[in-house]
Amino acid sequence: MASTEHSFDALVVGAGAGGLFTAARLSHLGYRTLVVERLEHLGGRASTRDIDGFKVNNGAIVIEVEGITEQTFEEVGAKFDIRRPDPPILYRIGAKDVDVTGGGWGFLLSKLTRQGAKLVKGLGAARNDEGLPENELSTAEWVAKYTKNESVHGIFRNMCGSVFAVGSEELPARVFLTYFTRKSAFKKFGFCPEGTVGIWRSLAETITANGGEVWLSAEVEALHMRDGSVSGATVRRNGEPVEVRASFVVSDVGPAATIDLVGPQHFPSDYRNAVSKGDRPCAMITVNFASRERLVQAPGMLSFANTRRLCYVANFTDSCPEMAPQGWHLYVGTAVPKPAIGDFDEAAETELLFEELRQQIQGFDNARILSTEVTRDGWPPQRAVAGFDMSRTTPIANLWNVGDGVKEYGNGGTTACAETAKLVVDEILAGYPLAGRS
Ligand SMILES: Cc1cc2nc3c(=O)[nH]c(=O)nc-3n(C[C@H](O)[C@H](O)[C@H](O)COP(=O)(O)OP(=O)(O)OC[C@H]3O[C@@H](n4cnc5c(N)ncnc54)[C@H](O)[C@@H]3O)c2cc1C
Repeated sequence: MASTEHSFDALVVGAGAGGLFTAARLSHLGYRTLVVERLEHLGGRASTRDIDGFKVNNGAIVIEVEGITEQTFEEVGAKFDIRRPDPPILYRIGAKDVDVTGGGWGFLLSKLTRQGAKLVKGLGAARNDEGLPENELSTAEWVAKYTKNESVHGIFRNMCGSVFAVGSEELPARVFLTYFTRKSAFKKFGFCPEGTVGIWRSLAETITANGGEVWLSAEVEALHMRDGSVSGATVRRNGEPVEVRASFVVSDVGPAATIDLVGPQHFPSDYRNAVSKGDRPCAMITVNFASRERLVQAPGMLSFANTRRLCYVANFTDSCPEMAPQGWHLYVGTAVPKPAIGDFDEAAETELLFEELRQQIQGFDNARILSTEVTRDGWPPQRAVAGFDMSRTTPIANLWNVGDGVKEYGNGGTTACAETAKLVVDEILAGYPLAGRS
């Protein structure tokens, strides 16, 4: 069958967070950019669908503000419509929902244990590199050095779950402490009133306004090699194979799937082994629910000290009433199963989440359940466990990976995706300067 040739500077495989941040930066700089996405919508694991007039997110819900995410929107001139709840997060300790704004961790921990001061000192010591523990020590083990208090362990477990989608026994303390002392520390964030997909629409508009293209419902079937470099791709679009040529390729589908698209024979075995070792997706379970009654007083996120699985409940409609039909409140409750890495009993873990939602949220029994989602395996909350990320670069000089399989140390979620995009685009700029391209 005859196929049309399309030539671009950059081919970006996947319109998830990593792919769109990359494409927005590239097209803004002047690279002719094509994004190919197999689904019919933008955003990948951070998208939104409509369920009876409710804007239900399928993954990421909180978007960090004032960091690399917002900076990217500013740099490329895209609208960044994020509303910040105030206060952003409350912690349920016993029967009280505590606001730690201002007082921070010292205040929170002092409420929980007399050992709080020592723990805060431990957190403080981690601000210096020498104060960071080795990667082998888990966050749970690090906390246990200071206290046996179950509520403190619960808070740390749920923070690990909320940010990294693993339990505190699965996350290196070094990662946790790096995040909390050097990164955003889960303090400044908000929700998009269109649902998270709104921010990706905004990036896609910028890409097309800069002359780029975004093909939805189009799948990259294979990436082609010529003389040791990637030369283009076969894309299935509208049922037809389309040949695309590109000077370089950025893949947002995860390093393992990228190897499959090129063909494993093109990669040395040590790289393939490193990728198969690092490809350890974690898991989350979410219940999207709605009610005519107001069920949650926290205006944004509510985290818990005394739950075994439920990490947080988010209240969208206080700040973004347009996410639900008039008169309705929209919430999500999220758990990280045990274990979060590897296999787990899906039915039992989902039941535990429901049980804890019933315990913690008065009126939950009468709420309307919009959807229950188990995200794992090929569609995980994080493609690599934080602290064990794979490499952005590949043995093929003009092929890079972005997204949450190749995060920088101690980062997570869409923020980490924005960071990978910036780092990869900086490398592309150095290797493929705009002035030098044909
Ligand atoms: C339940 C849950 C809650 C979360 N909460 C948060 C949160 O509150 N805040 C936060 O920042 N992060 C959160 N995350 C994490 C965040 O959603 C992810 O880190 C991020 O969306 C990953 O983006 P990505 O670009 O790496 O990959 P993806 O989103 O997986 O994007 C890859 C894209 O590539 C497409 N694709 C795959 N193969 C092909 C192919 N051959 N051809 C064309 N397209 C292809 C896929 O369809 C997909 O759209 C959450 C995740 C989950 C699941």
